Amino acid sequence: MVDRANVSVNQLSTTNHQLFSDYHTHPQGHRVRRYTPELLEPWADSARKFGLTDIAFTDHDRYHAGIDFDEIDRLRERNSELRIRAGIELDNDPIHSAAGRKWIEKHWDKLDFVLGSVHFLDRTDQMFDSVPDGATQFEGREVDAIYADYFHRVREMAATGLVDCLAHLDLIKIHGHRPVAEIGAIVNETLDFIRARNLAIELSTAGWRKPVNELYPGDRIIELAIAKGIPFTTASDAHSHAQLSENFPRLAQKLAAFGIHQVCIFEKHQRIMRPLGIEPLL
Ligand SMILES: [Zn+2]
Ligand SMILES: [Zn+2]
Repeated sequence: MVDRANVSVNQLSTTNHQLFSDYHTHPQGHRVRRYTPELLEPWADSARKFGLTDIAFTDHDRYHAGIDFDEIDRLRERNSELRIRAGIELDNDPIHSAAGRKWIEKHWDKLDFVLGSVHFLDRTDQMFDSVPDGATQFEGREVDAIYADYFHRVREMAATGLVDCLAHLDLIKIHGHRPVAEIGAIVNETLDFIRARNLAIELSTAGWRKPVNELYPGDRIIELAIAKGIPFTTASDAHSHAQLSENFPRLAQKLAAFGIHQVCIFEKHQRIMRPLGIEPLL
């Protein structure tokens, strides 16, 4: 039987942020697929279903041939209650990213949002974050050295001048490798660099479905980012519309626990801070 007195006490004492934006999504998934109504409409439907009002499409730059800005415009017309942002995820792919950077420069004015990512270390033929195979890149190497190398590449990405926000900032932990040195000491320089460049970082629930089973980035990095005044987006890195806003209730609790009461959204690369609505936790 439900204890009504307790329910009302819980409702008063526990609140949960209402998250409304997902700024890391892959309509094309893992190959080039031209944007069509059939491909995009399910994402708008999912956004409505999950209570989102602001989403950004951020397909990988190696699939830029599939992106069609006119198709995004038509999707916007059919779904006028949603804010739908044209974006892309630029990474450090040694083979494809040069073309990706050129494409971004060419279409900069049509893009609302560019994510910057590091998916490659020394190997040119395999992303280190492929699960489980990417873990072999860590074999026989010092974890601290790999972390240092990774964050150096993150700073290089931040320095391109082509990104608005860094994705999954501590992706290097994906397979569960932990450095000996304190993570704060490792990332401090990178966070200062991100702040100096006036960039955002994302809070990505994708880490919760990977071997490391932890939010990107981890708590210590979030703490430091808050102290330095770095703003956050909320993100799922969905590769299917069913994954949109995955684990957002759990992320909402995390934001509330950290006292984060606003997140940022982007329109034509312009960053806008939006307060999070508060709803009672039932
Ligand atoms: Zn990524
Ligand atoms: Zn992604």
